[in-house]
Amino acid sequence: MGRYTGPVCRLCRREGMKLFLKGTRCDTDKCAFERHKATPGMQGVLRGKPTDYALHLREKQKLKRFYGIYERQFRRYFEMATRSPTNTGEVLMSLLERRLDNIVYRLGFALSRAQARQLVAHGHILVNGRKVTIPSYLVSPGDVVSVKNRPRSLDAVQRNLAERQPMVPDFLNLITGPVPEGHVLRNPTLEDVSLPIQPQLVIEFCSR
Ligand code: SF4
Repeated sequence: MGRYTGPVCRLCRREGMKLFLKGTRCDTDKCAFERHKATPGMQGVLRGKPTDYALHLREKQKLKRFYGIYERQFRRYFEMATRSPTNTGEVLMSLLERRLDNIVYRLGFALSRAQARQLVAHGHILVNGRKVTIPSYLVSPGDVVSVKNRPRSLDAVQRNLAERQPMVPDFLNLITGPVPEGHVLRNPTLEDVSLPIQPQLVIEFCSR
């Protein structure tokens, strides 16, 4: 599955909000969005009032960019969510939040979701003691996400934990120590999502 490799600060400016794609830099005054809020491109600013379609589209794009996924993968999550008997928006958000790369980021093992994706893909992360290299792997309640007990893996993760001091969401329990690990206590809910997003708009857009 492909991924966006262009300038990520441009995505924040396009969506008109901070998406926190660059790790600790996002919290400093070097943040490109703080310095230059205009939308990228020749025009600089969006003209006029956005249409209803544009509002819905932007909400969906925001969500995809926040989790670093492409359209095809996003549509697969949407299909999975629509098959569920419960609220489609909530299920969609829960699915995205359960991605292994997101869990690694939320636990503070990585400075950004992109870095978390790399940690997983390069084999530094274990789920229930077994190496998992698929960033889109969906964790379940009871799973234990840990770091490979090798100096290279541990050094990187310990450095990130010290630098970020993460706010771990309620559905996870982080146990720090020589080999940090995170326990998945339950499935994430809308309240656990750190992005201010209106899932209803996304669902309406995808259902057109
Ligand atoms: Fe977005 Fe972070 Fe870049 Fe700021 S520094 S524009 S929050 S990616």
